Amino acid sequence: MFARLQEVFESAWTKPLLGLATILSCTTPAWSQPIPGSLPAQWTIGASDCAASPQAPLQVYSYEPQTFILRQSPCVDPEANFLYLLVGSQKALLIDTGAVADPAKMPLAQTILSLLPLKNGVRLPLLIVHTHRHRDHYAGDIQFASAPDVQIVAPDLAAVRAFFQFDYWPEGVAHLDVGDRMVDVIPTPGHEAAHIAFYDERTALLLSGDLLLPGRLTLEDTGAEKKSVARVIEFLAGRPLAHILGGHIERDMAGHTYAQGSTYHPNERALELSRQDLLTLPVALNSFNGFYASHENYSITHPMHNLLLLLFAVFALVAMIVFACRRCWKRRRQRG
Ligand SMILES: [Zn+2]
Ligand SMILES: [Zn+2]
Repeated sequence: MFARLQEVFESAWTKPLLGLATILSCTTPAWSQPIPGSLPAQWTIGASDCAASPQAPLQVYSYEPQTFILRQSPCVDPEANFLYLLVGSQKALLIDTGAVADPAKMPLAQTILSLLPLKNGVRLPLLIVHTHRHRDHYAGDIQFASAPDVQIVAPDLAAVRAFFQFDYWPEGVAHLDVGDRMVDVIPTPGHEAAHIAFYDERTALLLSGDLLLPGRLTLEDTGAEKKSVARVIEFLAGRPLAHILGGHIERDMAGHTYAQGSTYHPNERALELSRQDLLTLPVALNSFNGFYASHENYSITHPMHNLLLLLFAVFALVAMIVFACRRCWKRRRQRG
């Protein structure tokens, strides 16, 4: 194990990193006090009749002066994604671009670019990354296609591995320096093969994408998910953690999950989850029956298993109907 750690460490040092290094986190330095921030009591929750209740497509909330949380209105897209803009002294980092490509419906690029501070009269460069390769997390990329000083890292695994120099994916942690602000990037496949989570050292926020959120934790690969959760727990041990902020809110304050496609989130619960939610997730995953389980702040589901179960049920039902019809037909023939 030690030889492997050393090998990873040396390979990280021998590359021209320019503020980006991939090393295993095996030390626990004394962490400085994170910058505190605030969260709203209520996010934009859409409407039961969106046409009759016109509202802003994008809510911008300043967690602290250099950290912005953006919520896409459920009326514009039921996924109602949360996006995160972290501003450093050299560049800004946008994590996810949300579910809407059309700037007429969701003025994302215009909003983000207007939030970037000027340095020597020039807007800070913007780096766009994604928690994972699901369309509701990257559909807005297209809006930045012609914007100057914007770099977009594609959400596929090859691009993520190459950009963050994850030579031993899904092991290792990448460190992204945006100027007096370090953001750690942790591989977290399981919900999707290229999923990554971000830990902002300035605020001690864990931006968990769809790995952990107050709603449905949908699994693509349960084994990978278990390892990812263990990896994040290990990374956070000894580090401060202000909140865990995911990509969606899908539950109300009573713990009920909104229906898929809902444009209205009445009585919506808070976005933030705690270290305790993360620490109890391995137990929840180990006891998962492979189809569905509900817990205090989230539910776990495996869509492929549920689809296979549904197909099996349909097949069994058709087989029973055919069997019953054949028996019926045989009896009639015998009577005749
Ligand atoms: Zn997803
Ligand atoms: Zn999502």
